[in-house]
Amino acid sequence: MKTLRGSCHCHAVQFEIESDFPELTTCDCSLCLRKNALMVKVHEDQLRILSGEDSLTTYTFHTHTAQHYFCSTCGIYPFHRKRVTPDYYGVNVHCLDDFDASGIPTRATDGNGMK
Ligand SMILES: [Zn+2]
Repeated sequence: MKTLRGSCHCHAVQFEIESDFPELTTCDCSLCLRKNALMVKVHEDQLRILSGEDSLTTYTFHTHTAQHYFCSTCGIYPFHRKRVTPDYYGVNVHCLDDFDASGIPTRATDGNGMK
């Protein structure tokens, strides 16, 4: 397992995750398309919010099960709690420090088809 730190743009929200990065995912739901999100899935035990929890705001839509977090100052999306597997987070890999996505397979997931 690698431990990587991440943050939002203004650094109010800082977190770290553990993952072996077996794959990254994109999603074609109406929200992820707009965010151009590239994500890694981690269990809630593998994500620690180090600071800025009170800066996080949530956005929900459709079934309002998934919790889409964003920083209330800079608006950046660092991670979201998933809908089908709510004990997992999707983490925005572009928020991770020194993350290199090359060589990691990317899988397109079907969010738009989820009803
Ligand atoms: Zn921020």
